[in-house]
Amino acid sequence: MKKNTLGKTGIPVTPVGFGVLTVGRTQLDMPVKEGAAILRYALECGVNFLDTAQYYETYPYIREALRGTRFAPVIVSKSLQTSGREMREAIEEARRELDRDVIDVFLLHELRHGNDFASRRGAFEALCEAKAKGLVRAVGASTHHVDIAERMADIPEMDVLFALINYKGLGIRKGAGPGKKEEMAAAVKKAAEAGLGVFAMKVFGGGNLVGDYLTALDYVSALPGICSMMLGIGHRDEVDRMIEYAEGRIDRSYKPDISEKRIRVDQGDCEGCGACVERCPNRAMYFNDRGLADVNDTLCLRCGYCAPVCPVRAVIML
Ligand code: SF4
Ligand code: SF4
Repeated sequence: MKKNTLGKTGIPVTPVGFGVLTVGRTQLDMPVKEGAAILRYALECGVNFLDTAQYYETYPYIREALRGTRFAPVIVSKSLQTSGREMREAIEEARRELDRDVIDVFLLHELRHGNDFASRRGAFEALCEAKAKGLVRAVGASTHHVDIAERMADIPEMDVLFALINYKGLGIRKGAGPGKKEEMAAAVKKAAEAGLGVFAMKVFGGGNLVGDYLTALDYVSALPGICSMMLGIGHRDEVDRMIEYAEGRIDRSYKPDISEKRIRVDQGDCEGCGACVERCPNRAMYFNDRGLADVNDTLCLRCGYCAPVCPVRAVIML
């Protein structure tokens, strides 16, 4: 598979990457060996770009997938921590748990609008220190927010931007409200022109756009500045389709079978605003005893009405 250069980092990455979140605790919750087997299959097929995070608790899958192999993929991790001490610990945890001396890319996880960057300055300085010491190769941030993506080009220490974008604009934020895909696309372009390596998340809007497989991939892959798309993978078939797409040999009439998919609410992302509960026409969405949204599978018709109203992209299809 061809590779693209991740901006000024010079790191070559495949145009599609494996989002390891999907196999882990918060989504499919696969046994480690099972998830690692899919991951290893993707590596054998040529994928060299993996995304994980401290919060996902998926380091064991990567470690198991790489055990005893020749593969040395580019690994992205990230942390929600705010202080320098906590971020240093997060980097050490990644190095230890992944059994790697150097983490390729380490990010501030989910940078939000307002003064979030200022309040996490200590954590970012820890990332920069780790890079200076050779413990990480590149630093940056992941974000769902147009405001943050726009600012990235103006922060000289930033190497990488991991931005949320998809053809329906699901989950894109701007200020305290929704953002537009055109605004995020412009921010991505600006960041890439400033030399940042930019790759995309939520190309399928948390699984909600998988039914429009080719439309979703075509939109993001054609955006100026995007060098890779991180895709959540839970089955070998999905690896095959992803590779066929990246190599330009996919059947252009391909439509995934989504009949077995289920609507889920990511309990780590849900903010309990109630918009999905209100929107659901079938009373399938409800508040659980933690005050977060949840789905009653027996009532859910998988109409998908709930996903677009979620401001934080917590409604996913698995
Ligand atoms: S997919 Fe439709 S039925 Fe299911 S929870 Fe969402 S809005 Fe309700
Ligand atoms: S719309 Fe999103 S954040 Fe609000 S309750 Fe539903 S899942 Fe949670």
